[in-house]
Amino acid sequence: MKAFKQREREYALERLRFLRSKHEEAREVLDFYEHILLFQKELYEALEGKEANWRKGMKWLYKLLDLCVQHGTQPIGERAQELKYTERELLGQAVDGFLKEKKAEPIDRLIFLSFLQPFYQRMAEEAEVNKEEWFKTRCPFCGFKPHLSYIADTEEVEGGRFLVCILCGTEWLYNRNRCVSCGNEEDQHINYFYEEENRAVQLQACDVCGKYIKLIDMRVNGLAVPQVDDIATLALDLWAQERGYTRFEPNIFGL
Ligand SMILES: [Zn+2]
Ligand SMILES: [Zn+2]
Repeated sequence: MKAFKQREREYALERLRFLRSKHEEAREVLDFYEHILLFQKELYEALEGKEANWRKGMKWLYKLLDLCVQHGTQPIGERAQELKYTERELLGQAVDGFLKEKKAEPIDRLIFLSFLQPFYQRMAEEAEVNKEEWFKTRCPFCGFKPHLSYIADTEEVEGGRFLVCILCGTEWLYNRNRCVSCGNEEDQHINYFYEEENRAVQLQACDVCGKYIKLIDMRVNGLAVPQVDDIATLALDLWAQERGYTRFEPNIFGL
């Protein structure tokens, strides 16, 4: 299982490089995301056999801040610089605050999520999470919201829709046609948007509450890596947002 998770991370990087060559409009953000994924892979591997406690791994946060200064956009770099010179104690409190509130300013959120994800993913993998009959819109392990969803055939269910937690990556089944935000299930108020040349990535948008979530159909494209394909298709988000929809839970880049 662990070896499988590590291979998944290598494959995600391969997928990112492939998508970057196809999505000019997402090139800049994918370039930066590649650095984040490499950082996370290294951190995830370093946690093998160790206690996944982010408080004991604050040095990784400083490493990430350096990465943001070096490779981030100007605003990301400036904020990372500021955080680097924040007292360690206060920086830890800011991370704690984010975990409690489950929200932060977009750049802080990007930085904190990038830092915390490998720790929480390790913890969630070790934990016994009962998600079989969960069917809710908060993660059964950490309580954060799902940032995307995907459809796949599994042994248990054919064409099931899984929600993916933004923090710990836990996945759980959820009704395919139901709005994750307001629970609306009426077909005439749920719209699906996609680009003709990429039907594997769709937006499920609800006209009752105005929220949408991405739906990545692995049956249409089995090579997709949901969190990477999501970022490569940011044009869909911009399109929906121009039409007044808001994303149920933005991805790490706040899209
Ligand atoms: Zn979670
Ligand atoms: Zn809704």
